[in-house]
Amino acid sequence: MQELTHYIGGEHVKGTSGRFADVFNPATGEVQARVPLASKEEMAKAVAIAAAAQPAWAATNPQRRARVMMKYVELLNRDMDKLAEALSREHGKTLPDAAGDVQRGLEVIEYCIGAPQLLKGEYTDGAGPGIDMYSMRQALGVTAGITPFNFPAMIPMWMFGPALACGNAFILKPSERDPSVPLMLAELMEEAGLPKGILQVVNGDKEAVDAILYDETIQSVGFVGSTPIAEYIYGTGCAQGKRVQCFGGAKNHMIIMPDADLDQAADALIGAGYGAAGERCMAISVAVPVGEETADKLIEKLVPRIEKLKVGPYTSGNDVDYGPVVTAAAKQNILGLVQTGVDQGAELVVDGRDFALQGYEDGFFVGPHLFDRVSPDMDIYKKEIFGPVLCTVRAGSYEEALKLAMDHEYGNGTAIFTRDGDSARDFANRINVGMIGINVPIPVPLAYHTFGGWKKSVFGDLNQHGPDAFKFYTRTKTVTSRWPSGIKDGGEFNFKPMD
Ligand code: NAD
Repeated sequence: MQELTHYIGGEHVKGTSGRFADVFNPATGEVQARVPLASKEEMAKAVAIAAAAQPAWAATNPQRRARVMMKYVELLNRDMDKLAEALSREHGKTLPDAAGDVQRGLEVIEYCIGAPQLLKGEYTDGAGPGIDMYSMRQALGVTAGITPFNFPAMIPMWMFGPALACGNAFILKPSERDPSVPLMLAELMEEAGLPKGILQVVNGDKEAVDAILYDETIQSVGFVGSTPIAEYIYGTGCAQGKRVQCFGGAKNHMIIMPDADLDQAADALIGAGYGAAGERCMAISVAVPVGEETADKLIEKLVPRIEKLKVGPYTSGNDVDYGPVVTAAAKQNILGLVQTGVDQGAELVVDGRDFALQGYEDGFFVGPHLFDRVSPDMDIYKKEIFGPVLCTVRAGSYEEALKLAMDHEYGNGTAIFTRDGDSARDFANRINVGMIGINVPIPVPLAYHTFGGWKKSVFGDLNQHGPDAFKFYTRTKTVTSRWPSGIKDGGEFNFKPMD
């Protein structure tokens, strides 16, 4: 069995805590590797290395730092297939989806090539008589990030790209479910020219996370994952005086208006609801058709599309729509929630509970499910299922649909499908959700905009990537300077004592 490592000081380092977690191949259910779980002491070692290396990196001019990013983009493209394969093997998502995971991270690195422009400060000439004022953005020092299993390439790059481009050192604590790609990403950064110790990967669980939160050298913590952990990390990190941004869970609603093109809406729901087995924070998990007729027609269009979905291992290539979920525990959780839906009276229109795949009986596959007539008091509506389960809540009017999405505790993403510009505009203006799609089911903003939800989907203020990331990973320093009149007023010829 393969024993994974940490990546500390530019070396693959074996774990010394004696604690490990199993890394599965979700398609077969086999344990394919074990990942070391770091102790507080192992984390402290990485922090010390980062602290020693960071000042020189911060003093490297931004253009040179940007060139490392430029080279990194080239290396990511070179190794795209290798990275996607390693990602699919541990996560379970299909190969094209895994390549998309890498690509969406790569695009943030491309944005970071603009660091010299993004880090330019502000200057006021003549703020007072003979007074100039300027602001500069300086690196924080040692920064850290804790990432989820569902985007093991994209989300680490969303964090370490801007952190490094700003001149920080960064310690990544990736998900213990799929740590191989984060390790590969760190190694590649050094091949791109990053000095040793500036990007390190310390694998682990709560112990490693707490070591980050209570470390006095670490200046900032980025987190993406489930809401209860986001809340814990935000509260604890802020109480330790750190700069913290945490992104949590989601329950994304898609409103389908009576005037929408229902074939388009159904196609969009299939991709957004079942892609990556529903394990996306921007997945659509609630369809809200407006009006009974819209709902009936939508369900009629969804069922045959769902029945055609091909579920299988990534090794089947393009022949698969989605793969297994990440662990047996995730599968159990999803099926348990499906059962509560049935028990609480929702109509299970497509039942994937008996799904089995020949030759992969021990894999963590979950068949697609479609619920109709879900109501807001049911567990399947209130909780994030994070699986291939789409819930339909029928709304009597646009206002009712809007209120439903607004009353939900999560506010990551949402979408409206309509042909009416006025409804779309009203929706975008009034909804209390961070990312809105108009006839776009998964409205993930591109790298040069920012990504972040509202309500319980976020803790903190600045968003991920885009200009916000350059604010999060720097501190502003403002200088007011006055130069009294000097030599330009004429030479001084008499020998005078200094006073
Ligand atoms: P998770 O919260 O279980 O784990 C995330 C990270 O926290 C991992 O690195 C894990 O090791 C660590 N962790 C787990 N338990 C901990 C504990 N008790 N104390 C300290 N650290 C702990 O999330 P996950 O299952 O890996 O990812 C799925 C979740 O992430 C979903 O809720 C999804 O919506 C969310 N997510 C949100 C976004 C977003 O941008 N809002 C993006 C992707 C995923």
